[in-house]
Amino acid sequence: MRLFITGGAGFIGSHLCDYFLARDHRVIAMDNFITGSPDNIAHLATEPRFEFIEQDVTKHIHVPGEVDAVLHFASPASPKSYLDYPIQTMKVGALGTHNALGVARAKGARFLLASTSEVYGDPLVHPQREDYWGNVNPVGPRGVYDEAKRFAEALTLAYHRQHGVQTRIVRIFNTYGPRNALDDGRVVPNFVGQALRGEPLTVHGDGSQTRSFTYVSDLVEGIARLLMSEENLPVNIGNPNEMTIKTFAERINAITGNKAGIIFTHRPVDDPSRRNPDITRARTLLNWEPVVSLDAGLEETIAYFAERMQKA
Ligand code: UDP
Repeated sequence: MRLFITGGAGFIGSHLCDYFLARDHRVIAMDNFITGSPDNIAHLATEPRFEFIEQDVTKHIHVPGEVDAVLHFASPASPKSYLDYPIQTMKVGALGTHNALGVARAKGARFLLASTSEVYGDPLVHPQREDYWGNVNPVGPRGVYDEAKRFAEALTLAYHRQHGVQTRIVRIFNTYGPRNALDDGRVVPNFVGQALRGEPLTVHGDGSQTRSFTYVSDLVEGIARLLMSEENLPVNIGNPNEMTIKTFAERINAITGNKAGIIFTHRPVDDPSRRNPDITRARTLLNWEPVVSLDAGLEETIAYFAERMQKA
């Protein structure tokens, strides 16, 4: 296959490039480096099956040649980055998705949208199944991301229904691993960075809010299976191992031997209280479930951040 991956220099996008290149496919990646990084794809510079186009996907996209699959992964995706770039976040979810769908339609390619557990907002139903419509504040600070992705899902299904494009929608839950930017404000890079510097971990609020963490290789395997499936409706990909943020902080301190403890800080507006995927659909439709334990994933991630911090 020849795959076109928007956000290909991002955290997840660059792992997708690696996944498909390792399986003998060809990849064209596009990124404007707003939150992605050239470092994430530097190792592909001499790979003949890899091409890179530096461009903002909200501008008209021209991809020469045949394309079999379009994976739309361009977007600021951490709460800090979509608060830093609110208008770009809405544009990439709306105009960028429109352009990427246009490429898929013109090339007769499959299309896969990177959606998010944020479409459930601050959910009132636990765990979250794909048929739950969510509890989103459209005018809160997170609305720019949540609504852009909800619009993107609707547009994706409109292209499927009106134009017959073979579309897939993955709802990605919290994911961590190497190439997650140290400064993107997410809980894993924040806590690991703080622990490695011997600082207290900044737990927002009382830390009773929950998340579950998916290692990036598990996520990428789920995405690849979804792409090759025939499923048009959204599929959650995430790890159902739910824990409180306070417990997670204590775990990071234990693993790293950080003696500085935790401090409780301001809780961001509209921070979801509980998040946990129901992955019945992924299990039954894709025969997928996560296989990397939290300790194994954290070991890889901590080693990556330690190396980055040494270089910095
Ligand atoms: N969080 C925290 N301390 C930090 C960063 C994040 O307690 O230094 C909390 C945040 O408030 C949220 C959870 O960790 O409840 C996950 O936050 P993240 O930014 O990783 O992504 P989210 O799941 O909110 O999209």
